[in-house]
Amino acid sequence: MPFFEADRIEKKYKDFTLSASFSIEEGEFLSIIGPSGSGKSTLLSIIAGIERPDSGTLSIDGRNITDEKIQKRGISMVFQDFSLFPSMNTEKNIQFGMKEKDSAKRREMAGKLLEIVGLKGYGKRSVSSLSGGEAQRVALARAIAAEPRMILFDEPLSALDPPLRKHLRSIIRSIHDSLKITVIYVTHDIEEAFAISDRILVMKDGRVMTVKSAEELYRKPDSLFTAFFTGEGTVLPAHLLFDNVEGNAFFRPEDAQIAEDAISEDMYPRHIVLNDCTVLSADFSGPHYMLGLSYQGYPVLAEVQRKPRKANVSVKIPKDSILVLE
Ligand code: ADP
Repeated sequence: MPFFEADRIEKKYKDFTLSASFSIEEGEFLSIIGPSGSGKSTLLSIIAGIERPDSGTLSIDGRNITDEKIQKRGISMVFQDFSLFPSMNTEKNIQFGMKEKDSAKRREMAGKLLEIVGLKGYGKRSVSSLSGGEAQRVALARAIAAEPRMILFDEPLSALDPPLRKHLRSIIRSIHDSLKITVIYVTHDIEEAFAISDRILVMKDGRVMTVKSAEELYRKPDSLFTAFFTGEGTVLPAHLLFDNVEGNAFFRPEDAQIAEDAISEDMYPRHIVLNDCTVLSADFSGPHYMLGLSYQGYPVLAEVQRKPRKANVSVKIPKDSILVLE
C-alpha cells in the first residue's frame, strides 16, 4: 500500500479539467512539473484540502482524507510568497503550528529548527527584517515544526535569485534526507526538479503524463511532450532512420556524434548515420557548442566540443539512444 495516494481525482473548472491519479512512498521526494496552466497548483490545493475535488479519493497510510479539514490532514505547505505572519516575530511564526504546549519547550524547539535551517539566533527578529531567502527558511522551519506527515511546496524558490535558489534547494533536500519527510514539490523549473527529486510527475492539460526518476525522464521519455519539456533534442520521421517504423525518432544533442568526412554505414552497424548535414549555426555555451544542422531539410541538434571547420558534416547516433515516440 502506498503512503499517499490520489485516486482518480477530478476537478472541473469552466475551461479546464484536472484528472489525476498517482501515489508516493513514505519519505519520498516527488516533484510535479508542467507548463503554466497544466493544473499543478490545483492538484496541490486539492491535496492540501484548500480545494475540494469533484470526485476521487485521497488517502494517507490507507486513511481516506478526502473530506478531512485542512488542519486534520497533517500536511504543511510552503508557498512562493512565504506567507509568514507579519505581526509575529520569527520564533512565534515557527511555533504557530506546534503540537507542544509547554512554552519553554516550544522556544527550545523553535531554536533547534532555526539552527537546522541555518538561522541560529534569529528568533526575536521581526519577519519584515528578513531577506527573501531567510523568510523562506523560516517558512520551512514553520512547516517542519508542525510535525507533518507530508510537506507540500508550491514553487517555493521562484521569487528568489538563481544562486540563492540553488543554495536553498540543497537545504530543502538535505532537511528532507535527515528528517525523512515525505515531500510533494511543485516547480516549473526542470533543472530544479532534476536536482532535488526522487521522482518527477509531469503534467499537461490537467493530466498526469508520466512519473519517473530524473534520469529515466531525460533518457527514456515516453512522449515527445515529455522529451522536449525535459531538454533539447532532434525529432525526425522514424522511417527516415529505420525500415518499416512509423512515428517519430527522437535523440538528445549529446548522442549525436559529428565527423567532418562522410561516414560509412557498414563500419557502424550499431549506429544510424546521417551523411551530408549542413551546418546552420554553432552556438557557444561555455562547456560546448550546440550545432544547428539540417538533414534533408529537417533540423538536427548536436552538442560538440569543437566547432566544425566544414560547412557540411556527418552525424552518427547510437541506435540504442534513439527513441521512437508518439
Ligand atoms: P499551474 O499551477 O500548472 O500553472 P493551475 O492549477 O493554476 O495551473 O491552473 C490550471 C487551470 O485551472 C488554469 O486554466 C486556470 O485558469 C484554471 N483555474 C485554476 N483555479 C481556478 C478557479 N478557482 N476557477 C476557475 N478556473 C481555475
